[in-house]
Amino acid sequence: MGNQKNFNIIFSVIIGIVFLVCISFFVVSFILPIGDTSMDDNTIKNDYNPNGSNYSNDDNINNINNSAEITPENSDESRIAELEEKIRENEIKLKDPYLILVNKSNPMPEDYVMPQMVGLSLDSARKMEIMAASKLELFLAKAKEEGHNVIYVVSAYRDKSTQQTNYDAKISEYMGLGYSREDAEKRTLEFIAPPGFSEHQTALVADVAQEKELNSEKLAQTPFFIYANENIHKYGYIVRYQKGKELVTGYSAEPWHFRYVGIEAATYMHEKNLSLEEYIDHLNLNITAAEQELATLKKKN
Ligand SMILES: [Zn+2]
Repeated sequence: MGNQKNFNIIFSVIIGIVFLVCISFFVVSFILPIGDTSMDDNTIKNDYNPNGSNYSNDDNINNINNSAEITPENSDESRIAELEEKIRENEIKLKDPYLILVNKSNPMPEDYVMPQMVGLSLDSARKMEIMAASKLELFLAKAKEEGHNVIYVVSAYRDKSTQQTNYDAKISEYMGLGYSREDAEKRTLEFIAPPGFSEHQTALVADVAQEKELNSEKLAQTPFFIYANENIHKYGYIVRYQKGKELVTGYSAEPWHFRYVGIEAATYMHEKNLSLEEYIDHLNLNITAAEQELATLKKKN
């Protein structure tokens, strides 16, 4: 019986221990997953919290910045290539013979090579550079289609001695009207360049009108000149001396004086309301700006 009592006690203790182990195992296994779940929740919260200010998120931002640091170097390189290309493009434009600048402060270059010239079909005595001539004829044909008839090419290419003759004749004309020689020269210079300073010597210019006589600013308000002013850029021409640009070009408005510069340049000048002087300044400024940015970028790298 004593053995039986001992056995019962030992059995109860074992059952108790097993029960305790089971309970603790149950409790532990029940609590731990809750802890893990809450950590996961925090992790998820941190990952998705855009305003999170914990290190993990800051590190992510830093990582993004670190990986992005490669891009600015690449973009510097591509910007440098872009700027060099921009400089080249503008330099090519400035060397374009169709953009030659002849005005009162820029005489015909001594080494100017006369381009190939042809007589205009409208008037074979009037000569122009071959491309300028063909584009002018296309424009005048189109203008005729639009109802602008009886058009004269009053003047096209003029050599230096013709320019001298015109210049002297105009001075005499003003002196005949009672102007002093000095005033007659001043008045003449408003419209006629002294020999060596006339765009007409380039063979890229035509004075076109519906009348044989020019010299009237009112011409700009007639249908043909309104039409020319709005459309001639499509043929590579600009109306060279515009009202409002007298201080830049050095000339009073001459709605009849058409200058060939090529379609791209003519369209740009037309759209931006630039004279040839201003367009050339614009090209030079493009180069200067690109060179300055290039110097800054190269110093940085
Ligand atoms: Zn002219």
